[in-house]
Amino acid sequence: MTKSKIRLVQRQLKARRLYRGPIDGVYGEGTLRAIVRALERQGEGVPAGWPLWSKRRRFVAFVQVLCREQGIDVGPVDGYWGPQTDYAYGVLQFFLEHGRMPDPWRDVEPSDANPNRWPQETDRALTRHYGPVGENQTRVQLPYTHRLAWNRARRVNSFLCHERVHDSLARVLNRVLGHYGEERIKTLRLDLWGGCLNVRRKRGGTRWSTHAWGIAVDYDPERNPLQAGRDRAAFARPEYDKWWALWEEEGWVSLGRTANFDWMHIQAARR
Ligand SMILES: [Zn+2]
Repeated sequence: MTKSKIRLVQRQLKARRLYRGPIDGVYGEGTLRAIVRALERQGEGVPAGWPLWSKRRRFVAFVQVLCREQGIDVGPVDGYWGPQTDYAYGVLQFFLEHGRMPDPWRDVEPSDANPNRWPQETDRALTRHYGPVGENQTRVQLPYTHRLAWNRARRVNSFLCHERVHDSLARVLNRVLGHYGEERIKTLRLDLWGGCLNVRRKRGGTRWSTHAWGIAVDYDPERNPLQAGRDRAAFARPEYDKWWALWEEEGWVSLGRTANFDWMHIQAARR
């Protein structure tokens, strides 16, 4: 809860005549009491147990209520600040400042930089550059702990990748850490790892998947499912622009950014 978030909430409480204190960005008793009254007014829009929630969770729940009132898709009012709430809050903030909703998305223009000279994505070009599938693997040590996307209790501190992408991968992840920091990485779920090396064919095809060479990485598959386009994939949102820029300046290709599907997937092969 930053001061600016608290100030936004205080202004909204004041507009509802629930709060008379200063707009000071301090989450004190007066602000909490006003939030409680606002949540009481919501009735069934908020889960029954909310009065027992922590002070912070009730604050987040009120932000979610505010988003919902403006028709912003914030998901369930659960008092947790996840990526959907983070995104909805950004939309709300824009709406309150500009009096209109932001454009749903901007045209994406992936960079065509390719400083590492990644090959084209054909079996022939990939085999020529990287060798046979499944070989020449090494372990990349991660600058921030990843978690297995399908079992988040499992921490991942390194994973296997092709030796020719190793240094670039390490550079990208270090820059991601430098830009977002650990806390925001967690909020944005940039640490939810969906796998790298996997010697398999493409889904429904006979060609090798780029995972077969250990030159592709998946992140947060749950919120970026294979078929989801820009309107549904979390990674299409503006808060991930820098994430993509950091990959693209090293020549990595996002299928989401270039083909608008499989937003979880990043590869060291050109299309
Ligand atoms: Zn993938």
